[in-house]
Amino acid sequence: MSTAPTVTVIKAKAVIDATGAKPIENAAVIVEGSIIKAVERQGQIAIPEGPHVRVLDYPTGYLLPGFVDAHTHLIFGVQGASYEEVIDGDSDEIMLLRAAKNALTHLQCGVTTLRENGARNSVTFNLREGARRGYVTAPRLMLCGRPVTQTGGHFYWCNQEADGVEGVRSAVRQLVKDGSDHIKIMASGGGTAITDNRRASYSVEELRAIVDEAHNMGKLTTAHCLATQSLINALDAGVDMIEHAGFIEPDGSYKLEPTIAERIAEQGVYVSPTVQTGYRQREVLLARQSEGPLTPAEQKRLEGLKAKCESQLDFLGRMWKEFGIQIISGTDAIAIFGDYCLGLELMAEGGMSNMDVIKASTSVAAQSIGVGGLVGTIKPGMEADLVVVDQDPLQDIRALRSTTMVMRAGEQII
Ligand SMILES: [Zn+2]
Repeated sequence: MSTAPTVTVIKAKAVIDATGAKPIENAAVIVEGSIIKAVERQGQIAIPEGPHVRVLDYPTGYLLPGFVDAHTHLIFGVQGASYEEVIDGDSDEIMLLRAAKNALTHLQCGVTTLRENGARNSVTFNLREGARRGYVTAPRLMLCGRPVTQTGGHFYWCNQEADGVEGVRSAVRQLVKDGSDHIKIMASGGGTAITDNRRASYSVEELRAIVDEAHNMGKLTTAHCLATQSLINALDAGVDMIEHAGFIEPDGSYKLEPTIAERIAEQGVYVSPTVQTGYRQREVLLARQSEGPLTPAEQKRLEGLKAKCESQLDFLGRMWKEFGIQIISGTDAIAIFGDYCLGLELMAEGGMSNMDVIKASTSVAAQSIGVGGLVGTIKPGMEADLVVVDQDPLQDIRALRSTTMVMRAGEQII
């Protein structure tokens, strides 16, 4: 007896396929198993019928590809706690449980593909194995495992410190052996206690060795770059993506350097500016300030967050408009999971059109992490990673929060 594949017909007011084409009005998408078979206007397509066909009808809904979050840290997600409090306080087992919860929370808000940019030991590899076995439900996971960092560098407690050309080469080989899909490089300090975000880490020779070794094994690279010098070093080394693009000068000021931005565009390097980091913390402090005076330490923190948030938004807009850099959405989720759409709203505020924001969070993001042939657009042959929102995101980007359906590989999640 042959069993017909399960067919799902999804009808929607419009399909925004994220190729940049105009929306298809009154559309139907036919999904067979996990694969999109057809997308057309209703009436121009034969709608399959029979007991194996399930119809999902969203007469007021807008159907889009599932979102891609190009930058997360699944072991965190503990609001109000510092990196060190989490790292010192929690075992790998607790981190794994939290990672599973965070992954599901993100999936339920529409993130069907998630690129993980740094976790301790083998926590995320175990999460992926658990998802493969069906123990947990998670987005499609693209993992770096542990980030490569110099001794005492940003995220050193993930336990992949490596120094020198030979040291970093063997670290990359170890990571690929353990299951890394891409290599995350800490090219400057960051928010960890003993590092300095104004200064570059690693020599260009070390960075080149990492990139060379990763590319030799068919893996993409991405570099955390807050310090301006780290951007230059990462470009010299030929990385594929830059995280944050902080443009922080040695004196701590923020200054977008046009010659560097031109190089990013020329070399076709994607930038994931993670604009939302610090934004919610700033909101909390601003709310507190409206109730009464802040302590001097809180005041200093608020000033720092204001400068950071403002420069990030300004740099995002300029990188996009003035320099034509490919911008990608990434939450850098550390405090909160499931707050994905905030970053999209900020990208629109920074000057990107709503369609450009949609592409930066779906098709272009998928390309940037090497899965553009699999997900990120709604076309026949692609995996059925889909979301339905109940208002028009081309009119108002906040509509992307109104998720009413999420499907991953043909499986309806909500
Ligand atoms: Zn990060």
